[in-house]
Amino acid sequence: MYTSAQQVVTPGFDLEQVRADFPALHQQVYGRPLVYLDNAASAQKPRAVIERLATFYSREYANIHRGVHYLSQEATSAYEATRETVAAFINAASTREIVFTRGTTESINLVAATYGRRNVGQGDEIIISAMEHHSNIVPWQLLCEEKGARLRVVPISDEGEIDLEAYERLFTDRTKVVALVHVSNTLGTINPIDQMIELAHEHGVPVLVDGAQAVSHLPVDVQALGCDFYCFSGHKLFGPTGIGVLYGREELLDAMPPYQGGGDMIETVTFEKTTFNRLPHKFEAGTPNIAAGIGLKTAIDYVTGLGLDNIATYEHDLLRYATDRLLEIDGLRIVGTAKEKTGAISFLLDGTHPYDVGTILDQYGVAVRTGHHCTQPLMDRYGIPGTIRASFAFYNTPEDVEALVSAVRKAGAMLA
Ligand code: PMP
Repeated sequence: MYTSAQQVVTPGFDLEQVRADFPALHQQVYGRPLVYLDNAASAQKPRAVIERLATFYSREYANIHRGVHYLSQEATSAYEATRETVAAFINAASTREIVFTRGTTESINLVAATYGRRNVGQGDEIIISAMEHHSNIVPWQLLCEEKGARLRVVPISDEGEIDLEAYERLFTDRTKVVALVHVSNTLGTINPIDQMIELAHEHGVPVLVDGAQAVSHLPVDVQALGCDFYCFSGHKLFGPTGIGVLYGREELLDAMPPYQGGGDMIETVTFEKTTFNRLPHKFEAGTPNIAAGIGLKTAIDYVTGLGLDNIATYEHDLLRYATDRLLEIDGLRIVGTAKEKTGAISFLLDGTHPYDVGTILDQYGVAVRTGHHCTQPLMDRYGIPGTIRASFAFYNTPEDVEALVSAVRKAGAMLA
């Protein structure tokens, strides 16, 4: 049991300096210091990222991949440098395997619309889990509707852990794709995706991993995991909005048809026929979010500078501390009590509605998310309309936890 802030490990980085790097953390809302605990929705940005965007727009701005002029070449190099950084960050075998998208949602849609359309047919099956975000449900559902295929859903326990035996039983000779969340945005569960990938591969089925909530909390190595696709968003990784990543194994990406048609994704175009650009550009039609792409490198450099292992160790302790402190509150129930968790705590307070609690917390400067967190089927699984979710990043402190606990107690008293 963690009962005092002193028990939380000292992070392997300078927490005070880190907090100083994030201007948004040092403001007041309603006359109280902001306590930002909505990191699963989107994370705040370090000054280095903000300044990188400003410098790019002030002095370096040009379109990429086409210009012979200086600025265009420099912008292209900076954008492509991010691809190198992303490949190293998740240990991809090559930059050809790193496709830039708008975010996790677009990455998953891309795979469903290309790999899915080509490989899933009438009567086929796609396995997902009961804790998927809507963005890892709906694209597959649309594909199923189009093709006459169906979704098979891996059940979870009351604690919020995948039922691995049930997962294994879901495989049939009609299974064509498995799509799984690495870390649940609602429950915080870290799924045993390495085992799940291995099992799918024993059945010859490729696996897409939704890593939106994983990359900011855990080291991720796509080659060690052996996954076929891995998706994440820049904005949850302390980078800009509007940029995300689809990692795909080269062999699979190579065989996939393009996603969108347009500039940049072509090699030659005639009215009779178009040939496509090499990987990864085949999947990147049109002018991308250049500034966001460039800013993502700065964000990843920042995070790797702190060290994902350091981040994971500190956040693990902070999450345990927050869990223990919240559980001291009468009538508070945590939804999602898996053994392996990171990032988020969802909870309910007896006799109150999550929205009302969230609104009161806001008045105390504590920013949390309430509702279904884009996981409505998961809420149905628990028979609840929503939860209050506090989600953490490496810049959160035991004092933030104390502010949360104190505001929840006050909300409880006011709503009783
Ligand atoms: N999957 C998970 C697990 C998420 O938490 C989110 C964002 N809430 C998404 C997918 C979608 O990410 P984005 O909105 O950045 O595309």
